[in-house]
Amino acid sequence: MTYAAGRHFLQIPGPTNVPDPVLRAMSAPTIDHRGPEFQGLALELLHDIRPVFGTTNPVIIYPATGTGAWEAALRNTLSAGDAVLSFETGHFATLWQEMARGLGLEVDFVPGDWRHGADPGVVAERLAADTARRIKAVCVVHNETSTGVVSRIPEIRAAIDAAEHPALLLVDTISSLGSIDYRHDEWGVDVTVAGSQKGLMLPPGMSFNAVSDKALAASRDAGLRSTFFDWSPMLAANERGFFPYTPNTNLLYGLREALRLLYDEGLPNVFARHARHAEATRAAVRGWGLEVLCLDEREHSGSLTAVLVPDGVDADKIRGVVLDRFDMSLGAGLGRLAGKVFRIGHLGSFNDLTLAGTLAGVQMGLNLSGVPAGPAGMEAALERLQAD
Ligand SMILES: *Cc1c(COP(=O)(O)O)cnc(C)c1O
Repeated sequence: MTYAAGRHFLQIPGPTNVPDPVLRAMSAPTIDHRGPEFQGLALELLHDIRPVFGTTNPVIIYPATGTGAWEAALRNTLSAGDAVLSFETGHFATLWQEMARGLGLEVDFVPGDWRHGADPGVVAERLAADTARRIKAVCVVHNETSTGVVSRIPEIRAAIDAAEHPALLLVDTISSLGSIDYRHDEWGVDVTVAGSQKGLMLPPGMSFNAVSDKALAASRDAGLRSTFFDWSPMLAANERGFFPYTPNTNLLYGLREALRLLYDEGLPNVFARHARHAEATRAAVRGWGLEVLCLDEREHSGSLTAVLVPDGVDADKIRGVVLDRFDMSLGAGLGRLAGKVFRIGHLGSFNDLTLAGTLAGVQMGLNLSGVPAGPAGMEAALERLQAD
């Protein structure tokens, strides 16, 4: 590899750029995870992590990627043969339901066009029709990272309540937590699944379950429980500031620092910053004469924008040009969107000029790839950033 001056632009929707203070915090020596210093750190973190989820209930921390926290959510609340309702909002929703099927759950996977969120009307319909109360959980991906579409969780909760249905609500916030407004308690979510490497600005390798009292009650007789993901020994050890097995100590140092950064800025400001950068990005996309994948104005993602490329153009070729020429990584189209979209990640440690640099790289990359974009996209984005 030849030396590349300046910072690489890691504008994929996770892993995201890790801020310098977080990198520095993680470089501290690893300590005894059964000693008093660790105990102090864990007790502090297990308390301080709750506000980012919008909960006062326990949050479980796993040394696993987001996929592990998906599995934990299912294993701790469900039994083989239970029915689950989920929505084909995109690639990640598809993977989660495949996992559910693999675990022996019976999944009603409502088809979707990958351009809309989960439909609260369909939740209402399916639950009303389930008079035998066979559906034990509704699984929704809050921010579908493959499409840049956000599902409206409060409306889905309202549909469950209106049907007076006892199903649990399990929500994947892996690419929304710490970037897009989210409230575990207020929205009545039973299990919130999250990961370290997106809005929390940490490296990959750590994931979370925030749990409601109802989810904890369901976990007592969940037949899919497994040793590694079991909530109960975890919660018992956590009470005392410890973990049942070795935690990822240095990621926890990073988490402490990342939470400090988020809380110093203030969560409402963090969410507003992301929403504003997403707006400026959409202005750029339209200025280039391209289409944003998300079709519903209420469902645009604050953390990433998926951009449709014209027919006959390979989105991966544009990504390749942008990487070669400008040292920037953009997100690839996943699953059925492979080659048809590229994704601009604008989440995490990110400011106006990082966005401007990102969009400049995309605009030049489009022009160099034979997709004449002209200057209007950048102009529109800068105007939006300048406005307020
Ligand atoms: C990234 C992501 C995942 C997968 O997480 P891993 O850390 O790669 O296991 C799942 N769901 C969503 C919405 C994601 O963005």
